[in-house]
Amino acid sequence: MSLDPLTLSPAVGLVALQFFLYAGGWALGAWLLREQRAVLVHWAGFMACVALGFLLMSLRGEPRTWMAFNGAALAWIAGLLLLWRGVARYFRAPAWGWAQALVFVVLLLGNLWLGPGAEGAAARVVLSYGSGMLVFVLLVANVVPVTAYRFGPARSLVLLVPAIIVVIAFALLVIRQLSDPGHAFELHRSDPRNLRALAAYVVAAALFNVTFTALVVARLVHRLRELSVRDTLTGLYNRRAMDERLRQQCERWRRGGERFSIALLDLDFFKRINDTLGHQAGDKVLLRTGQWLQAEVRGGDMVARVGGEEFLVLMPGASGAESRVLAERLRMGLAALHRQALAAGEATAPTLTVSIGVAEVQEGDGGPDGLIRRADEALYRAKALGRDRVELAG
Ligand code: GH3
Ligand code: MG
Ligand code: MG
Repeated sequence: MSLDPLTLSPAVGLVALQFFLYAGGWALGAWLLREQRAVLVHWAGFMACVALGFLLMSLRGEPRTWMAFNGAALAWIAGLLLLWRGVARYFRAPAWGWAQALVFVVLLLGNLWLGPGAEGAAARVVLSYGSGMLVFVLLVANVVPVTAYRFGPARSLVLLVPAIIVVIAFALLVIRQLSDPGHAFELHRSDPRNLRALAAYVVAAALFNVTFTALVVARLVHRLRELSVRDTLTGLYNRRAMDERLRQQCERWRRGGERFSIALLDLDFFKRINDTLGHQAGDKVLLRTGQWLQAEVRGGDMVARVGGEEFLVLMPGASGAESRVLAERLRMGLAALHRQALAAGEATAPTLTVSIGVAEVQEGDGGPDGLIRRADEALYRAKALGRDRVELAG
């Protein structure tokens, strides 16, 4: 019995239409989301090239044209390569341009050699699915080191589930073709297994879209969260983030008695820098101070810019006396930092000092506000006693 080679073409055309619609969706996303544009352009290109591949496949018939048989495979692999590039870009994985170019060149040469003829059909099927499988294996190898480092092995595995499913599916298709070389499993041929394969493409496309959407949303949410807790000038945490953390810390202290202290720093006569050298010079001093503080505190400590020229350091586990020692070190270190800047020719005040109020959490505080109030009183005392000093709250 001879199979009608055109029977599945309308179904292949429908799959092409689906991918074209997705391409349009991601192109729209790329246009709307400036921050993600480069990645989304790649994903739109992925969908468009795969759509083109299926469209060319749906045009297969007699006489056999190079575009319908070989061009289709090239468009399809070009799409997978764009997917790979987009994913690598999203995760900021190193670019593997050479590997991508190699896969494409091998596929191109293979297709030039085989041509569109029926006699090369089985070899073309193996070449196409083999290349597709290779693209996904390389994609996973390229991206996993980055995702495993950033999200841990378990979560990065979940992220890569669609890619892993595709690798397995392509491997099965290659094995099927190799084990039955007399019958070419070209997708447009009428065969219930091909119909199932087309259904699998519909499902895979949906899976990819869901994953892409999740990735884009995750990045946007992460960015918004970062913006809401960071100070724009210094990049340190802001007051909101510190308040939240202090609430947690107070809660933990109430439940488990895990003590902690805070140091409130206020630059001395900072207004003079602005008045004599200008606001920009003042900003530079604040930036330098903030970055230095962040680098100077211990790993578990948290630094925030809580006011114009005020910084707060949270020291979990530290007693008042211990944090006073650290505050002394910060006070002297900041003065030295400023002297260095001066020696390096920066436009800055002849001297710059800092006054610090330190307080350890205690029973009567009743929460972060009470604790900060006592640190503030200690700071006020440091100012009144002549500045450039550390005072510990009683
Ligand atoms: P004191 O020793 O009593 O703390 O004196 P001071 O001049 O540091 O204190 P005051 O509170 O009078 O002035 C703080 C100054 O900080 C006033 C304000 O112009 C400046 N300031 C606040 N935020 C910024 C900022 O983001 N950039 C710059 N350049 N200056 C800022
Ligand atoms: Mg102040
Ligand atoms: Mg000040």
